[in-house]
Amino acid sequence: MRTITIKPKAITHNLNQVKQRAPHSKVLAMVKSNAYGHGVAAVLPALQQADGIGVATLTEALEARQLGWNKTIGLVEGAFSADEWQQAIDHDISCVIHHRPQLEWALQNIPPAGSATRVAWLKYNTGMNRLGFNAEEVLSVAKRLHEAGYQLILATHFANADEREHPLNAMQIQRFSSVLATLQATISPDIQGSFCNSAGVVNFPEHHYNWVRPGIILYGSSPVTDQSAQALDLQPAMDFSAQIIALQTVGANDAVGYGSHWQAQTDTRTALVSVGYGDGYPRVVTGDAYVTVIDADSTQHYRCPVIGRVAMDMIVIDISDAPESLALDSKVILWGDAPRVDEIAGHAGTISYELLCRLSIRPKRVLA
Ligand SMILES: *Cc1c(COP(=O)(O)O)cnc(C)c1O
Repeated sequence: MRTITIKPKAITHNLNQVKQRAPHSKVLAMVKSNAYGHGVAAVLPALQQADGIGVATLTEALEARQLGWNKTIGLVEGAFSADEWQQAIDHDISCVIHHRPQLEWALQNIPPAGSATRVAWLKYNTGMNRLGFNAEEVLSVAKRLHEAGYQLILATHFANADEREHPLNAMQIQRFSSVLATLQATISPDIQGSFCNSAGVVNFPEHHYNWVRPGIILYGSSPVTDQSAQALDLQPAMDFSAQIIALQTVGANDAVGYGSHWQAQTDTRTALVSVGYGDGYPRVVTGDAYVTVIDADSTQHYRCPVIGRVAMDMIVIDISDAPESLALDSKVILWGDAPRVDEIAGHAGTISYELLCRLSIRPKRVLA
């Protein structure tokens, strides 16, 4: 059976790793895109020690409220209309304000004192050039919001935090710290700051400010280019598995799968595994991708390469290294402890984030 097993204990462990790295900051745990594909309902109980959660859409925010999350919810792209702004107020959601229309909604419709929506995450564009006010406007916008009664958190986002030495990092840090200092000196010393995603938490410990916003690291994947998840002591929060549904021997020179893409050099024992791109396993993996087979009888583990094209419903693996006695219903780990999702993402020319987010509804979902 195709199964996605979510491991809440791993998420709590990873959250604790973040807290150890950022002991003086609050944690806004990012659960957008259905908690990076893990399922919001499955992960919220594991995030009880976070100070808040971050989402990208109002629908996601309302879902989390409905599931009983009663602490901070940060809407990281803010409201998309005046109506959404009103709904954010109704449900006590804190919003990013990153452009003029959002500023106008906030100034025209001021939430009651004590409302979480009175905390505004003012987005400053320090060089990523997606969302945020530029240096010339951010001071006056901050002043207007402050005078209207908002508490401010100046927020920005790294473009290259995964690559510590990238020259834009120092530039973004310099711009952010200088504007934050100016706001604190000229408007209010209570204005807070928020800069770091997962990679920033790891690579820029001097710049954690009041709130860190970790995402991928909570799910056990490495956010940085030069250290593996294992080196960072992260535990994978997801086991993606399927099972062997047929065993075969392919003769020398015979080809396997669509396009007859892979050809056996010698007689090769192969197995069919009940998973494919229809489940979210990437079609484009290279020949270096492997799975771990756990023999249903002996519980021995075997590392087996993926061969031929990934199809919608199945893949073929080379089981030459497993014994002849390998049981037909053996479990196959697509990603989890080994291989890690980061490895498969590498073999598919993408990042773990994408593989996790685009899992389909077909695999059965269970909690560990
Ligand atoms: C998604 C997101 C994050 C988390 O990024 P990771 O790389 O997953 O840690 C942080 N901040 C904002 C604004 C985001 O949208």
